[in-house]
Amino acid sequence: MEAERFEALRRRFASLYARNPEVRKVPLEVWESALAEARVVPLLGTEANLFRLRRDVRGFPEGTILGEEILVPGFPHIPRIFRLSTGVPRYFSEAFFAEEKIEGYNVRLFRTGREILAVTRRGFICPFATDRWPDFLPRLSEFFEDHPELAVCCEVAGPGNPFVGEWPPYIKEDVRFFVFDLMRLPEGHLLPPEEKYALLEAYGFPAPEVSGPFWPGDLSPLLALLRRYEAEGREGVVLKGVSGRPYLKYVTPVSNLEDMRVVFPYLGEVPSQYLTHRLVRYILSHWELFGDVGSGEPVERVFRGLREFLERVAQGEPVAETFQVRFRTERAFRALLVHFRHAQVKVEVLKEKRRGEYLEVTFRKIYPRATAFWRQKLEGFSVVD
Ligand code: ATP
Repeated sequence: MEAERFEALRRRFASLYARNPEVRKVPLEVWESALAEARVVPLLGTEANLFRLRRDVRGFPEGTILGEEILVPGFPHIPRIFRLSTGVPRYFSEAFFAEEKIEGYNVRLFRTGREILAVTRRGFICPFATDRWPDFLPRLSEFFEDHPELAVCCEVAGPGNPFVGEWPPYIKEDVRFFVFDLMRLPEGHLLPPEEKYALLEAYGFPAPEVSGPFWPGDLSPLLALLRRYEAEGREGVVLKGVSGRPYLKYVTPVSNLEDMRVVFPYLGEVPSQYLTHRLVRYILSHWELFGDVGSGEPVERVFRGLREFLERVAQGEPVAETFQVRFRTERAFRALLVHFRHAQVKVEVLKEKRRGEYLEVTFRKIYPRATAFWRQKLEGFSVVD
């Protein structure tokens, strides 16, 4: 039976391979061993013959989508700098723009056949963004008619998103989409900033705030921008050279404090360096922007809400996070539940109600590792550390 299933998969992939010259740049044997090791797997949630890469395969990054007529590379990792005054001149020799770094989650939107799909960083179809894009990008179909060779890279952000517990402070309800890049297919080059800004404007796509151009020899306007972002509680910037390279990210001190505050309850679920990294970023950026490392406020901010949290877990409640999310269709909500099941995320639906044209759903994610992490300590067990 297993062998039969694998054979069906192999045939399905072979038909894609026969039609897609980009995929044929890598020998079929390499793909077949990747299939056998589940480094490449079928994409669930669509009728189209699509696969996603769970790991890099011969230069194709994790999250890449392969189809008969399409190849959408995974979104690249953006290097981070910790200090602007030395980092910027080290990497930029020409002018650059500073785009607001929006705190949310990344999707790539693309057209395949008659469908428009949104996929996450790891290459899963995101049922939420696939359902909601028409609310924010009403001219997306027209865009793909005119530019079938482009994918739209977008941050989905706001308190009503189903995945992340942080969002820009100026979004008070639901979500917003922010288009931050246009990716040329199949090779995955991101369009240079000004070419992208012109297209975003032409199609009325919402985008992150753009500042600049700035020059590496005069960083005081960039430092001033980051002090403003700090005061407004925004996450940071992605710096993009006018020619399209390089890209660098830099975040505000406060965004690191927020990360730490939000993650505390889920400590058993994240890598052990998570806090240290944010602490180091906080210290360096605060020192660079304000000349000191801050006093009392950071601790107050990071520990806010923890007393109530500890009391709840000590009384036996599991560690959980609650989300309230709007869908245009019930089908999309069911698809999201299936997605969580595949991703082994434990979810309890608390409420479903109609709200105008939307189905509004409240659900909570239960975190078993974080629950065990805190419970063990609160129940008095010893550990050797
Ligand atoms: P990595 O990129 O190393 O995987 P990560 O997934 O944790 O790290 P971040 O460190 O948050 O991501 O930063 C990169 C992400 O920032 C991008 O993948 C994108 O989703 C998001 N982002 C938000 N605003 C922008 C923007 N203006 N330009 C580019 N990316 C942006």
